[in-house]
Amino acid sequence: MDNVFGIDIIPDNDAERVAALEHYQIINTHREKAFDSICALACELFGCPISHISFLDADTEYIKAACGLDGIAKVSRSIGFCAVAVLEPELLIVEDTLLNNLFSNHPYVVDKLQIRFYAGAPIITPDGFIIGTICLIDTAPRKFSDSEKRILKKLANLVMEQTELRYNNLSLIQQRDEFIAIASHEMRTPLTSLQASLQFINENNDSSLNATNQRMLQHAYRNAEKLSHLVNEMFEASRIAERQFSINKSIFNLAELTDSCCGVFTQTGKHQLVTHGEKYIQVNADRQKIEQVVVNLVGNAVKYAPQSKIISIDIEYLGSEVKMSVTDTGPGIEPDKLPHIFRRFYRTDNNLTQTGLGLGLYICAEIIREHGGEIGVSSNVGEGSTFWFTLPLNS
Ligand code: ADP
Repeated sequence: MDNVFGIDIIPDNDAERVAALEHYQIINTHREKAFDSICALACELFGCPISHISFLDADTEYIKAACGLDGIAKVSRSIGFCAVAVLEPELLIVEDTLLNNLFSNHPYVVDKLQIRFYAGAPIITPDGFIIGTICLIDTAPRKFSDSEKRILKKLANLVMEQTELRYNNLSLIQQRDEFIAIASHEMRTPLTSLQASLQFINENNDSSLNATNQRMLQHAYRNAEKLSHLVNEMFEASRIAERQFSINKSIFNLAELTDSCCGVFTQTGKHQLVTHGEKYIQVNADRQKIEQVVVNLVGNAVKYAPQSKIISIDIEYLGSEVKMSVTDTGPGIEPDKLPHIFRRFYRTDNNLTQTGLGLGLYICAEIIREHGGEIGVSSNVGEGSTFWFTLPLNS
C-alpha cells in the first residue's frame, strides 16, 4: 500500500488481523462513553493534550474515542500513525517526531496537527492480533519513562477488555433478538388458532355452559387476546429491527380514523376522548400503522393515567405537516426517564404493575420515522403527559 512512511505497512497476517477486528463489530461505530473515558483518563494521567483510541482495518484507521481531538472520525491507513504502531506488539514511542526518519516529514508533523510527540500502545486480542492502538499525542517533544510505558500498556489492555465486554453485550442482545423473532413467529399460528376456537365456542354456545364455565370462557378469550397483542408486538418489533417493514400509503382523515379506532377506550365510561382542532385534515400515510400509533398512545393514556377522565386529542395544521397530540392528566413521567421512553424494551419502574413489554412506543416511533415525521413527549410529574407525532403533508 502506498503510504507517507515509505515502508511496508501491511503485516503478513493482515487478512487474519482484519478478520479478528471485524469479529468485534466495532469498526465505524459511534463514540461510546466507556472508550472516551479511557482517553480522558490517559490525558489526565500523562498530562498530555491529546489521546485517542483507533481501530485499523484493511484501508482505514477508525477513531473510536478521543480526548482533545474533535471532528476526526477516520483517516486513511496510508497516513495514520496507527498503521505503524500495529506493526509491532511493543509500544511505538517517538519522543521527538522531527528527529525520527519515519515521521519528520509527515503531514501531521510539519503541517496539520504539528505532532512532536507520539506514544502508541497496541490493542492486542487474546489470540494475539493487533487490532488498533491507544495513543498519546503532544505538540512538544517529551520523554517517556518506563513506568509511563507500563501504564500506557495497561490502558491498552483495558481497551481490549472493554472491547470484549462490548462484544459480549452485543452478542447477548443479538441472541435475545433472535430468540424473540423466532419465538414470536412460532407462537403466532397456534395462538391465532386458539383465539379462533375460543371465538367459535363463544359464538356457537347454545347455553349448554353453566354460568361459571361461561365466565371462564370469557376469561380465556380476553387473556388469549392480551397474549396475542404481546406476541404481535414482539413479532413486529423484531421485523422493525430487521428492517422488514413497509409502508402502504393511502389518503384518509385523521380525526375520523381516531374516532373509528378509539371507541373501545370509552366503553367502560371511565374515560372520555375529546378531539380538538383540524377535524377535516387528510393525510397520505399507512392507515393501519397510523391507527396502531393512535391506539397505542390513547391506550397508554388509559393504562398509565387511569384517573384521567378526559383524554384530549389535538390535531394541528402546521403548514407542511400535521401534528397530533394525545394529552392525559395522569401521574406524568419523571424528567430523567423521558429521553429513554421511545427505546426498545424501556419501561418506567413505577409502572411495573401494568402488563407490557416496553415495545409500544418504540414501534410508534419507528412507524412515524418511516413516514418522515417526528414523535415526542412532554410531561410534568403530577400534571400529566402529552405524546405527539407529526406527519408530513406533502408526500
Ligand atoms: P408498554 O408496551 O410496556 O406499555 P410503552 O413503550 O408503550 O410500553 O411505554 C413505555 C413506558 O412509558 C411505560 O412503561 C410507561 O411507564 C410509560 N408511559 C407511556 N405512556 C404513558 C403515559 N401516558 N403516562 C405515564 N407513563 C407513560
